[in-house]
This record gives sequence, structure tokens and C-alpha cells, in this order.
Amino acid sequence: MKKVSSALPPGSTVGILGGGQLARMLALAAGQLGLDCHIYAPEADSPAFAVSAAQTVAAYDDFKALEAFAATCDVVTYEFENVPGDTAAFLDALVPVAPGVSALKTAQDRIAEKTFISGLGIPVAPFAEVSDLASLEAAIGRIGRPAVLKTRRFGYDGKGQTKIYDTTDLGQAFAEIGRQPAVLEGFVRFEREISVIAARSWSGEVRVYDVPENRHENHILKTSTVPAQITPAVAATAMDFGSRIIAALDYVGVIGVEMFVAGDRVIVNEIAPRVHNSGHWTMDACAVSQFEQHIRAVCGWPLGSPERHADVVMTNLLGAEADGWRELAAEPQVHLHLYGKRETRPGRKMGHFNRVTPRQA
Ligand code: AMP
Repeated sequence: MKKVSSALPPGSTVGILGGGQLARMLALAAGQLGLDCHIYAPEADSPAFAVSAAQTVAAYDDFKALEAFAATCDVVTYEFENVPGDTAAFLDALVPVAPGVSALKTAQDRIAEKTFISGLGIPVAPFAEVSDLASLEAAIGRIGRPAVLKTRRFGYDGKGQTKIYDTTDLGQAFAEIGRQPAVLEGFVRFEREISVIAARSWSGEVRVYDVPENRHENHILKTSTVPAQITPAVAATAMDFGSRIIAALDYVGVIGVEMFVAGDRVIVNEIAPRVHNSGHWTMDACAVSQFEQHIRAVCGWPLGSPERHADVVMTNLLGAEADGWRELAAEPQVHLHLYGKRETRPGRKMGHFNRVTPRQA
């Protein structure tokens, strides 16, 4: 495992695995600090390519291409959690990789993730491992209904999961998630969903942003509102959980931790080992955005202030909603961010906007 031991100077190159909107916004933030980005992605039309100094179009298991990529980078990071373990380990031997391989592995497997979090004394939904129909039946016996069945790996935006109601046939539910290794979770009757966006440096310094409240539509994030309608005690608990998780993972970079709020209880749902959609509001309401913060962290720079100077609602533009860019661009309180995607598909994240108003509290 290689580390960045002193700040990488302007002119250094940050390698990013993945070329979507998160990589694009990371590259824009890196550019602001005089750093270059080399984006590695399998899709030739990756949105991040348009704003980066160098691009590689290759598969994640093309080790020749990965070796050539690593030779051009001073540090490598990633914009998505499904980087294959072998790819991360291969790069790790050649160049500093942040967040590190072990944090990535923990976040990739829902069982490892929940075991790790509950091992810190932090509440998660009751859960049980499922490998076949018999273990699903046993898990339902322990956890009860309603429950949520999720694939152990590769789930996102509600994909790879299904709810189990009183009348749901278990065989059908298991078939619905492709009969893959899974986790059964007790259904949490939450009032709101929040998240913690935190950053940690190579030297262990931690910074945490204010807590956004997140609203989903069809399992896809629609809005993040800051401040959240939560008590100071709930906010403090959430931020404490985020800080403890990032430190215990020995993590370097920005992390997103999704949580449920039920009364005065905070329950952790999952970890995203990367910059997070629910942190996009930081671009226009904070001294230093999550993207700049991630670049600062992985490059060994001092972390920036996460201080918030405005109230803000971030709204994702999904599919054809982005066609309204003219009207949005004309609104004085709106900061518009479009991802340069050429093809509009229903539900596809095309951009977002932050509506900022003077800070009230
Ligand atoms: P996930 O893929 O784990 O982020 O789940 C996607 C969404 O499903 C969450 O944002 C929640 O709205 C809902 N959800 C996931 N797990 C649970 C649970 N155990 N109880 C209630 N709702 C859940």
C-alpha cells in the first residue's frame, strides 16, 4: 500500500476510475487547484472526458492499460464503489490509491459493511445473511415481515432489492433479485432519510459537512435539503457516527454515509466510498465543495473548511427535466450544473441545480 506523504504540487496528475458525472465534477475541482486528471473508463462517451487532461478508454480488467494509466498518475481515486477488487489491488501496488482497498472491500459487500458498522456500536437495521431459499426462510423467521431483501453486492438506486410484505412469496422475492447472495434487513419505519458527508486526510484529520435531508422518488435521489428538519441532538449523533466510521475505516477522501431517522434514533443504512449525490449542495453553499475536499484529501493537501454559508435545496435533473435548463439558468438563486450527457434516458441523472438562500440557522 503506497501513501501520499507530502502534498502533491500543482501540475500533478490525479487518476480517476470511472467517467460519469462524479468524475467530471472531481476533474473540474482538481483543475481549479492546478491539478490534472487522467480519467480511466470503458465507455468512449464518458461525461468526464470532456473536462480532463488525459483519457483512457479500456476495460477495468485490462491490466496492461491499467499499468500504463498508473504510470501517468501521482495518486488514483475512483467515482464508484464497484471497482473490481483485483483492479484496485493491482493499482495499489503501483501508485497510492485512495480511498484504500480495504475500505472499498467493506463498502462493496452489504454483510461486511453492516458487520463492520454494528461492530462500532452504531445501529443498523437487523440483518441476516441469505444464500438460498432455506436461509431466506430462516432469516424471515428471525427478522419478521415487512423486510427488505437486497443483493450483497452491486446494488444502487434501489436496484437489486425487493420488499417482502406479509403476503410476499419468498421464492418469488429471491427470484426477483436473481437468486444471488443477499442480505435480509428488517424494515425500518423511518421519518426521514439523511446522510453524512465527511472527509479524512492521509494524516487522519476529519471534516464533516452539515447534514442534508434526502428525498427519493422511485429509489432515486430527488432532493437534498440543508438544514435538515432534525434536532441538534440527532444531527450531532449522525455526525459522530460518520466521523467514527471514516476513522475506523482508515479512510482517505470523501465518504457518504446514508442514514435513517426514527424519533431520536439514527440508523445507518449504507456507506458510499466516494463523493455522494447528497453532497452536491456543497458546491454552492460551502466554502469548499465535497469535490474539492476529496481532491485535497487524496492529494495530501490541507482539508478545506466544510462551513456552510447558505441554506440550500439540491434538486436532481432526471431525464427530460434537464430540458428546462433555459428557465433554470435565468433564476437568480439557482446554480445549474449539467453533466454534458448527450443521450437523455428516463431517470438518467443529467444534471442538478442548487437553489441557495441566505442562511437562517
Ligand atoms: P439502498 O440501496 O440500501 O440505499 O436502499 C435504497 C432505499 O430503499 C433507501 O434510501 C430507503 O428509502 C429504502 N430502504 C432501504 N433499506 C431499508 C430498510 N431496511 N428499511 C426501510 N427502507 C429501506
